[in-house]
Amino acid sequence: MTNIAFIGLGNMGLPMAKNLLAADHSLRGFDLAEEARASLEGAGGQAFSTIAEAVADADVVVSMLPSGAIVKAVYEGDDGVFKNAKAGALMIDSSTIDVTTARDVAQEAKAHGFDMVDAPVSGGVGGAAAGTLAFMVGGTAAAFAKASPVLEPMGAKIVHCGASGNGQAAKICNNMVLAISMIGVSEAFNLGRSLGLDDQTFYDVAANASAQCWSLTSYCPVPGPVPASPANNDYQPGFATALMHKDLGLAMEAVASSGANTPMGHLAAEIYATMNDEGHGGVDFSGVIKHLAGTL
Ligand code: NAD
Repeated sequence: MTNIAFIGLGNMGLPMAKNLLAADHSLRGFDLAEEARASLEGAGGQAFSTIAEAVADADVVVSMLPSGAIVKAVYEGDDGVFKNAKAGALMIDSSTIDVTTARDVAQEAKAHGFDMVDAPVSGGVGGAAAGTLAFMVGGTAAAFAKASPVLEPMGAKIVHCGASGNGQAAKICNNMVLAISMIGVSEAFNLGRSLGLDDQTFYDVAANASAQCWSLTSYCPVPGPVPASPANNDYQPGFATALMHKDLGLAMEAVASSGANTPMGHLAAEIYATMNDEGHGGVDFSGVIKHLAGTL
């Protein structure tokens, strides 16, 4: 049993914390929202109204927060984790944030004598509840070895991606491909329809040909061929456009700072920004097929 402090008990954090409780860890939590703290108590954890109380006895601190600015404040603030955690505690930030902030906060952790990994996830709320998230981890090999047993009850796949920030790098690179491939598959269905090609017929060809990809065969943007895809449920998430828009924003920040050449990534980011700005942030990201067709 490990004493774990969990900060950020929202749509993702609460079910992740529940899986740590189910694995017989002792769990203390902090969230700004009273409702989130009450939900943790209801699940058998102990909730506190300050970070200092939550992290006091913790061997491990896990966070699942909305943005880089919030992660920085939670860890580096005067009332934050670094000033209040016990010596030798391990820090695991699973939030999706920009690579630069992830590296800065890890550097600050090191200056305070703590090991820290960035460990963003894919798998969404369903994966968080089922304990089947994929963790992409950045940090030293020693920190990864310490973090792995803590992540195991929450995940099905845990990959060490390299030094601090590389977990975030892997996450945004993956999601940039996902956005581009979903737009590509959607454009192909829209073009096929306009040429009189039946959706299922095109699917049967493409799924067994060189267009095969996850956006087509696991998350097909037209209803019918893949019964579990959100297209069969009026494009209810799933993975909301607002979250894809957020991740593409982080990818474009990284593009700007690294100088990488990503013309398709830029276009995908623009398309999802427009879809989001037009009020469709709550639509699953595969609903881009309707956005492109002008029918959303
Ligand atoms: P959420 O908004 O449901 O939860 C965030 C929680 O953080 C809230 O309960 C909020 O009260 C709390 N919070 C905000 N500021 C705080 C602070 N200063 N101190 C303590 N608590 C604070 O968001 P979510 O969907 O759980 O997402 C969390 C992270 O996971 C984000 O970085 C998101 O990009 C990432 N993510 C989400 C999904 C998804 O499907 N929802 C999938 C993969 C990754």
